[in-house]
Amino acid sequence: YGAPDGAVPSTYVGNYTLYGVIGEGAFGKVKLAVHRPTGLRVAIKIMEKSEIRAHELAHQVRREIYIMRSLKHPHIVRMYEVLTSDKRLYIVMELVTGGELFERIAKGRVNEATARHYFQQLVDGVHFCHKKGIVHRDLKPENLLVDEKGNIKITDFGFSSMKGMDVHTGLLHTQCGTPDYCAPEIIDIAQEGYTGSKVDAWSCGIILYALLCGRLPFLEQDTDKLYDLILACKVKYPSYISRNARELLENLLIRDPNRRFDLPDIKRHPWFLIDYDGDDARL
Ligand code: ADP
Ligand code: MG
Repeated sequence: YGAPDGAVPSTYVGNYTLYGVIGEGAFGKVKLAVHRPTGLRVAIKIMEKSEIRAHELAHQVRREIYIMRSLKHPHIVRMYEVLTSDKRLYIVMELVTGGELFERIAKGRVNEATARHYFQQLVDGVHFCHKKGIVHRDLKPENLLVDEKGNIKITDFGFSSMKGMDVHTGLLHTQCGTPDYCAPEIIDIAQEGYTGSKVDAWSCGIILYALLCGRLPFLEQDTDKLYDLILACKVKYPSYISRNARELLENLLIRDPNRRFDLPDIKRHPWFLIDYDGDDARL
């Protein structure tokens, strides 16, 4: 609570005092801030309205806000409120202080119990979205934050879709910096427009692979070659992965979304169920 030691406030927005930058995204910075009436520390995502207009992102940003506001779950970053000024949009969120899961994977693979702990929380959060008709569509370790207790918090619903809302197909295709975590059906032009929940199941598989192996299953600098690798969908499994973990991965990293596991299938798999105490633990 309260102002961080030695931090110099940069600006004041409504009831918030803004401090330094804690994250950079494609269309804005994320800053640490303090809610003055309560001393509560928050994260504020700041977007320039001119940028939103220039890239015709008004729809997308509105959807991101609408969706995030409707999601209340222990493994999804909470949105508190949205403020606007003439030039900017401020999305006030729960502050998550343990960094990105990305940084942990960059240090190398984690053991199976640790991987399972993160994966169970990820799957609970994603399944919760799906039950509300929301597909995240941009799950990757940069968008998975870790709190001070080591718990996963899903963020960045900028590419997500919701049942009943219009979907801008191809957005992910043209705007995501890297297709490393993109499902084949998103890359495959012939199937463009596919936004089913299985795309998130695919990304969960890539993330689980990265946790267990310390690297990505499809590695290629050149984007077109990377697309080819993903579409061919040949995965090498290191021998140190347990039989059950491998079997789960083999059911997730499948090109055909109809044959791929969905979130409820993951939750029934023996590897997932070990030490599980999440949403469906008592079913
Ligand atoms: P973009 O949509 O532009 O990718 P994100 O919402 O993913 O923006 O935020 C960019 C980065 O800012 C994240 O990868 C993360 O490092 C940091 N960040 C975002 N939200 C929070 C938060 N609630 N608490 C702490 N850091 C955050
Ligand atoms: Mg992001």
